[in-house]
Amino acid sequence: MRKPFIAANWKMNTDMASAVELAGGVAKEIAGIENVKTAVCPPFVYLQKVAENLSHGGNLHLGAQDVYFEGNGAFTGEISCEMLKDVCVEYVITGHSERRHVIGETDELINKKTRAALDAKLLPILCIGELLEEREAGKTNAVVANQVKKGLAGFSAAEAVEITLAYEPVWAIGTGKTATSEQAQEVHAMIRSLLAEMYDQATAEAIIIQYGGSAKPANTEELMSCPDVDGLLVGGAGLKVESFSEMIKITS
Ligand code: PGA
Repeated sequence: MRKPFIAANWKMNTDMASAVELAGGVAKEIAGIENVKTAVCPPFVYLQKVAENLSHGGNLHLGAQDVYFEGNGAFTGEISCEMLKDVCVEYVITGHSERRHVIGETDELINKKTRAALDAKLLPILCIGELLEEREAGKTNAVVANQVKKGLAGFSAAEAVEITLAYEPVWAIGTGKTATSEQAQEVHAMIRSLLAEMYDQATAEAIIIQYGGSAKPANTEELMSCPDVDGLLVGGAGLKVESFSEMIKITS
């Protein structure tokens, strides 16, 4: 009943020409696939051009990698929800581990961004995940559960089902070291039972939980076969038409 959702996070990569080419190439490759939700998240400055080049009504949707929680105003360097909507963005990533650990975003800030996005009718992809030292110290479940609770603080069940969660173990991001399907399933199942406690079983069953961290064509089938893995958030493999569209095709 959960429709698989495969999204690419391009991070701080591409230029104008390659962004347009990458999105256009993927859209062409996956035309006609309707049983998988898909999105690409280019850097802010290329969103508009990518949007102009994606055919309306196609299956490839547009996401942003971050957003600010305030409305338009005196917030130098930030981008508002309204600005994203103005350039046809539908999804927005919040709480990516690089924003948490490189830029220093807190759970409270991530919660505000997620709230602002949903209030503006953007669909948040809220990322959570433990550091290597947290996993090695046996703290994975506690860390992830805390991020889920704080990230979703204040959201009703009806709102929570609009939010995609992305479990991205930080040690697996960009390292080529994918979590095994058992490791992914274990945390995804923990998240889903936590959601059932926070809300109810039906809500927990409805929420899409993506896995992210060195996901690629070679491990797509295995990861997607886990009962609680409902999609993938893809970094490196999302920067090539062939690999990203192959992952969507494998999932379809
Ligand atoms: P990766 O990145 O696929 O390159 O590991 C995933 C992410 O950070 O979303």
